[in-house]
Amino acid sequence: MKKVFIETLGCKVNQYESAAILDLLIKKGFASTNQIDEADVLILNSCTVTNRTDYKSRNVIRHFLKLKEADPNKIVIVSGCYVQREKAQAEELGNIDAIIDNNNKSAIPELVEKLLLHNAEPIESCQQAQDFIYFDELPSSSMGEKSRAFIKIQDGCNFYCSYCAIPYARGNPRSRMPESIIAQVEEMIKKGYHEFVLAGINQGLYGIDFSERNTIANNLAELIQVICDIPGYKKIRLSSVEPQLFTEDLIKVICENEQVCPHFHIPLQSGSDSILQAMRRKYDTRLFSNLVQEIISKRADAAFGFDVIVGFPGETNELFAETLHFLKSLPLTYLHVFIYSKRRSTVAAKLPNQVHGNTAKERSQALISLSHEKIIQYAKKLVDIKAPLLCIVEGSENDVYYGMTDHFVRVQFKADREAVNKGDLVKLKAIKADGEQIIAEIW
Ligand code: SF4
Repeated sequence: MKKVFIETLGCKVNQYESAAILDLLIKKGFASTNQIDEADVLILNSCTVTNRTDYKSRNVIRHFLKLKEADPNKIVIVSGCYVQREKAQAEELGNIDAIIDNNNKSAIPELVEKLLLHNAEPIESCQQAQDFIYFDELPSSSMGEKSRAFIKIQDGCNFYCSYCAIPYARGNPRSRMPESIIAQVEEMIKKGYHEFVLAGINQGLYGIDFSERNTIANNLAELIQVICDIPGYKKIRLSSVEPQLFTEDLIKVICENEQVCPHFHIPLQSGSDSILQAMRRKYDTRLFSNLVQEIISKRADAAFGFDVIVGFPGETNELFAETLHFLKSLPLTYLHVFIYSKRRSTVAAKLPNQVHGNTAKERSQALISLSHEKIIQYAKKLVDIKAPLLCIVEGSENDVYYGMTDHFVRVQFKADREAVNKGDLVKLKAIKADGEQIIAEIW
């Protein structure tokens, strides 16, 4: 049996796609391995979100090619956002067997067979991102070892924020038909999955590309409702949604539906309106703050994770202080802090007043410290308001089990060994906060 090793860099969409590629290969009779040396097929799903992920992608390719040098029977396949943008650079690294564009990953399993069995010539499938017109269906009925299932619902973005290279790697918005999403969720419920994380490049744009607006779900709010209506015990978790794309209907469905996790990941990027403008973001701090207040007024236990970029060109000490002040004023739970990374062909790459790396690092540290403080406060809040916690069990040590709650806070609890299994969805009562985590007991 031939063995496949997949390395995945980057976001939830990439993680979903890699799991789906592996699932299709396993159905074809391949085996998955975590031991890179013993693999016959080496696949990289690369990322280009920062210079660092470009660098990591190149390193993985170099490593793969070194292994191939020692054993020329190995097959090396590279796909994902880095090679979508920097194909020529990747080719200079050596003899990659196949470079596959971002909208053709569903072809990888068949390609692997061809390359292995028929000894085909090197293959390339590298359409330009702006030419992607359909949603590449990549169904998956398994997430490997993972306890929660990612469901890719959307691809692409045409917002062209000034710092972001993703539209050049993922193309225009394309949505997966709701029937296909429903079929996958139904199948995964039968397999015992309890939590579904909806993932997309800009998932608030779900449905925008449907030419006939008469599908059973024409936008994200309708899609969430349709998934909630599927019979079976489940939780639905939204991944990142752009703040200006929270419509009234979307707020209603996420706040009124118990099946939707009270955990919202919203990209803020800056708490300074002038920086938001330079970033070409489509909202201001007032809209953002109103959105957060509205959600929390309807779901008191809501957890918020915000993305923030520090060191954007032109971010002075004063403008960073605005961001810090704004963030302190918000009932946030945690921050994902990114240091601005200059991306080729973006508008921001040409802006004056690029911020020195050390200054950006100091700002990043200040926000990471704030994030730690806020998580501790939030864990205490959940205990104080006696919020019921739902947890997908991720593992155990002796009789202590752990996982993440539906609020996305780490939790630990004790239970009899036979009573709980990995992957179970258990209802917990918080006993006390212990730093950033909660100690709980079975409800
Ligand atoms: S919304 Fe902006 S930051 Fe997000 S993927 Fe699109 S262009 Fe990039």
